[in-house]
Amino acid sequence: MSDCLFCKIVAGDIPAEKLYEDDNVIAFSDINAQAPLHALVIPKKHIATINDLQADDAELIGRMYLAAKQIAADAGYAEQGYRTVMNCGESAGQTVFHIHLHVLAGRDLAWPPG
Ligand code: AMP
Ligand code: ZN
Repeated sequence: MSDCLFCKIVAGDIPAEKLYEDDNVIAFSDINAQAPLHALVIPKKHIATINDLQADDAELIGRMYLAAKQIAADAGYAEQGYRTVMNCGESAGQTVFHIHLHVLAGRDLAWPPG
């Protein structure tokens, strides 16, 4: 999608601090980090929201979690713990309509979230 911010990051048209990449997934640092580690894991393919997922995206979503696990481990947070969040829609706080898994670590994270 030419007007999608995260598709532009996938294409290399907008710079990002890349933390992980494979054939289907990339991850980069959130520009407005909410914790010492705040990564965004995204599929290279444009999917706007969780509502747009299809059955054949199941493996892709699994790969996003495997990337999150690796990023957290590489940053040294596997044992301490981390949070993965994917917001869906405006009421949940989704502002970029290309699905992304937030990976947050490095501070105590309150529950329930705001
Ligand atoms: P959400 O509110 O769940 O849609 O999350 C969108 C996230 O994208 C926010 O945490 C933003 O800080 C982050 N973000 C927006 N623009 C960029 C960018 N150019 N590079 C990295 N992260 C970004
Ligand atoms: Zn996109």
